[in-house]
Amino acid sequence: LRDTFQREIGERAPRTQALREEAARHLVAPTHFDRFVLPSAFPLAVAQARGSRLRDLDGNEYVDLSGGYGPHILGYAHPAVVAAIQEAAARGAVNAVGNPDEVRLAALIAAAFGQDHKVVLSNSGTEAVQIALRIARARTGRQRVAKFEGHYHGFSDQGLVSSWFRYRGDPRAPEPVGNSAGMQDAVVAETLVLQYGEEESLRRIAAHADELACVVLEPMPSALGDFDPVFLRRLAAVCAEAGVLVVYDEVVTGFRVHYGGVQHLAGTAPDLTCLGKIIGGGLPAGAVVGRAEVIDTARTSGDPFRDVDSRAFAGGTMSGNSITAAAGAATLLELRDRPQIYSRLSDRTAWLVADLTAQAGDCGVPCRVKGRNSVFSVAFDHATPRLVRDRLAGLDVTATLAFAYHMRRYGVHLPELHTMMLSAAHSDGDLEQVSEAFGKSVREMLS
Ligand code: PLP
Repeated sequence: LRDTFQREIGERAPRTQALREEAARHLVAPTHFDRFVLPSAFPLAVAQARGSRLRDLDGNEYVDLSGGYGPHILGYAHPAVVAAIQEAAARGAVNAVGNPDEVRLAALIAAAFGQDHKVVLSNSGTEAVQIALRIARARTGRQRVAKFEGHYHGFSDQGLVSSWFRYRGDPRAPEPVGNSAGMQDAVVAETLVLQYGEEESLRRIAAHADELACVVLEPMPSALGDFDPVFLRRLAAVCAEAGVLVVYDEVVTGFRVHYGGVQHLAGTAPDLTCLGKIIGGGLPAGAVVGRAEVIDTARTSGDPFRDVDSRAFAGGTMSGNSITAAAGAATLLELRDRPQIYSRLSDRTAWLVADLTAQAGDCGVPCRVKGRNSVFSVAFDHATPRLVRDRLAGLDVTATLAFAYHMRRYGVHLPELHTMMLSAAHSDGDLEQVSEAFGKSVREMLS
């Protein structure tokens, strides 16, 4: 299949193919031409992105279901966001000095999470998680971090422990394992790895309470489609009792499943929430938000030489830069002032999941379609395993790649190994095109 597509891409998209070859000569990482885990058989090089559609270098147009891995909830090149970026750029990009855009973005984020909340800005979700964990260590005076198997928290050493494709040990009490060469062994070894939704995880947190600074998790694991509010409430109670901070990683779900975060749907709130993607309006961004009492641990005012042992340092030359902040604020204002965006996205996701499930059932393709709140996935496996590690082991990689290949031929771009995302820009016509492409693709996969 890979060879077929290589041949075909050479014919359908010669400029894309030429760029891929040039990229291989100059660009090591990150490259979306040849991924780290499973090299892409279907590279796409985009000349123009508008609304729900991408046009490649060769003029082929696709309905996009990648959403750039999450930031583009309004669709590409939304007029309000483009105008905000142009206006901020024309005023002169500033960073490393105070500017009104960063304050406006921080105020919008804080107000979406609750009274007396404050914000630390960063340049990516990876950085946001690093800052949150540092605040947790500084505040508790404890070193260790607990995290859940299969939850990705960015590409830092800590973020990559047991994060997505490599797992080890007893499923109920996993051993920590790195997901890259070059990670610090000590960071891996110090991490306590848990299972989302398992009572045993709560017992293990209590047993390690004296060493744990925090538990970090994706409260609505986006890649897995699971959401267990009862577990989140139990987790909050156990951590409060143990003096362990709860850190929600909402880099994907923040401002996507609700204006604000999963805490608005779960009936429980964490101590700190990490954000990224949407809050940058398509430009690099991250943030940590939390109650002032907790997040003020990172306050940088005061006497730097006096309380250096109790304050957590957060920096970043470009953190809070005016162009990113203007793009982020414009995006949040659109979402805040048009709350129907969220209900419409939820309804459309539910429609698509039901439609694709029915079509797969009609033609007897063993695939499960899951999703909610604009995020969905199509998994080609035969069972419905509960644990992430079993899901990965059961995944039919060939079928997954074949599906992406056929969908591309029918004018739909999707990330082969990532969840898919709808944006406010997807029209009824786009959804019908996706539905039709799905029907044709799964039939071809059977033939
Ligand atoms: N946390 C989660 C849940 C993510 O999905 C990601 C990225 O996809 C990150 C953190 C890291 O964010 P970034 O890629 O902006 O560094």
